[in-house]
Amino acid sequence: MPLRCVFCGTRTDRSERRICSGCCRDLPWIENACARCAEPLAIDLPRGVLCAACQARPSPIQTTVAPLLYEFPVDAGLKALKFGRRLHYAPAFGDILVAQMPRLPANIDALLPVPLHWQRQAFRGFNQALELCKPLASQWSLPIMTGIARRRATPFQSGLAASQRRKNLRRAFVVRKMPRFQHVLIVDDVVTTGETTRQLAMALIRHGVKKVSVLAVARAA
Ligand SMILES: [Zn+2]
Ligand SMILES: [Zn+2]
Repeated sequence: MPLRCVFCGTRTDRSERRICSGCCRDLPWIENACARCAEPLAIDLPRGVLCAACQARPSPIQTTVAPLLYEFPVDAGLKALKFGRRLHYAPAFGDILVAQMPRLPANIDALLPVPLHWQRQAFRGFNQALELCKPLASQWSLPIMTGIARRRATPFQSGLAASQRRKNLRRAFVVRKMPRFQHVLIVDDVVTTGETTRQLAMALIRHGVKKVSVLAVARAA
């Protein structure tokens, strides 16, 4: 079966994989972003300089890479994946993540898909972050961590103020198995405020992980 572009349906050759070169070029790529939080920036900061928010607040995260804006057609594709069970979007976005790996520190030794609460995962039937991790795991020969659970579902998160989100997320993750990794890469579909990944990173660091970085498909502005 020849592959078809997930966005326009055009047949793609093998090298183009699941997104044709035309659609790939037209995706809302972020040109300049803060290296710590992936916040899009109007200018390219000198190496090692962080955005104002990151300078003001310490973070347990070393590097965040999120190459695309959470805008059409990326938002539509990610929603189709999560809520419409259009699972063919996962390897398409996964290919984009695979190509971003050289931008991340070379000493990453494990992948951690952001866990869903078991009830939500049972309802959805899969965890989109795990599906996004699979091409990364095979192409970069990295293990996928297990043994971390989400303590409770956090519904309506997107409608809450930042302080309330933080409160909801505090201790939201429970580490059931001691991780034996040095630098863990958290993988998610979209980073919004970064609070979920921050809480997950703090849980990992409390359990002996030295460094945590984040890779997501998209950054919501
Ligand atoms: Zn296309
Ligand atoms: Zn920042």
